[in-house]
Amino acid sequence: SLPVVAIVGRPNVGKSTIFNRLAGERIAIVQDEPGITRDRIYTQSDWNGERFHVIDTGGLEFGEQDEILDHIRNQAELALEESDVILFVVDGREGITSGDEEVARLLHKTNKPVIIVANKIDHHKHADLAYEFYQLGFEHVVAVSSLHGTGTGDMLDLTVSLF
Ligand code: GDP
Ligand code: MG
Repeated sequence: SLPVVAIVGRPNVGKSTIFNRLAGERIAIVQDEPGITRDRIYTQSDWNGERFHVIDTGGLEFGEQDEILDHIRNQAELALEESDVILFVVDGREGITSGDEEVARLLHKTNKPVIIVANKIDHHKHADLAYEFYQLGFEHVVAVSSLHGTGTGDMLDLTVSLF
């Protein structure tokens, strides 16, 4: 079976936008409202002839206790178990937030390869903003703008190299 790439991160960092780029069509729901995507969404994608599945986990929110949030967390954890490579999306312009730290804690419990995708770096002159995210303790950090598509090639080269 094909390798599985899971896209995780707190709400509103751009997971669905990245997913849509990989899907090549608008399947996931993109909204300004945080956490709007409520379920895992699958697609198949390929990069340089290498095919793989992609799961948009819909966003990891911590701190609050309610049934829907528990459901989202469970879905995301299932996706992580199924995955071969994890794209941990963060907002490159905002810097590290407590939500990112919670997600990082969860991901450090898996032994899957993790790539931090510092998204929303729309201008090349802001590429240095991505370095801060090495503090989250993962080996790989890439700067991307999923809006413009810059950096996503490097993200995918790295992703398939980790299968
Ligand atoms: P999700 O909640 O993590 O799935 O985030 P979405 O993909 O729904 O994106 C949240 C918001 O960020 C939307 O308004 C997107 O248009 C915006 N966004 C996503 N990627 C980028 C990017 O690379 N640059 C900018 N400027 N905005 C982005
Ligand atoms: Mg989403």
